[in-house]
Amino acid sequence: MKINLDSILIDPHPLLRAKAQPVTTPLSKVDQKVIMAMRKYVHDSKNEDLAEKEKLRPAVGLAAPQIGVSKQLIVVEIETIDEQGESSLIEYALANPKIIAHSPFYSALATGEGCLSVLEAKPGYVHRYLRVRIDAYDCINNQQIEIKASGYLAIVLQHEIDHLNGILFYDYIDQENPWLAKENTTIIE
Ligand SMILES: [Zn+2]
Repeated sequence: MKINLDSILIDPHPLLRAKAQPVTTPLSKVDQKVIMAMRKYVHDSKNEDLAEKEKLRPAVGLAAPQIGVSKQLIVVEIETIDEQGESSLIEYALANPKIIAHSPFYSALATGEGCLSVLEAKPGYVHRYLRVRIDAYDCINNQQIEIKASGYLAIVLQHEIDHLNGILFYDYIDQENPWLAKENTTIIE
């Protein structure tokens, strides 16, 4: 299985609005192939040469419904920089992820959000929970885990989990005042 730009469903495809089915864990052979292909896409999409050659648009995450597989599988790969300026890669490949708790506060990306499946620019703040606790099956280490995430990582995880529930980022944008931040919102540059 190989994913490139031609495999990505584009809004308004109805599958992007469907609820994805839970998967059995540990993953079946078929589901393992799906998640491996998703990890490869997200990883390779950040490599400029590969992205051009293989027709990949850069992504920090991907959800299975975006490639036409209506199952609860997501992948996230982001680079974070700690206080010492050291960068490290955080990668998750998750099955059946669920938000089990969240902070009462919000965060939003200063530039708004984008999505591989949404070609049109949809400017405006997308309010997310600042902190989330997620229960999921970790498909890299093959175990049930609980993830505590905040800030950018929490935003990306919430964006991908939303795909499993048929929600797209622009659903959250206030049509009247797209750049009006709610109270208790941290704007992330
Ligand atoms: Zn998306």
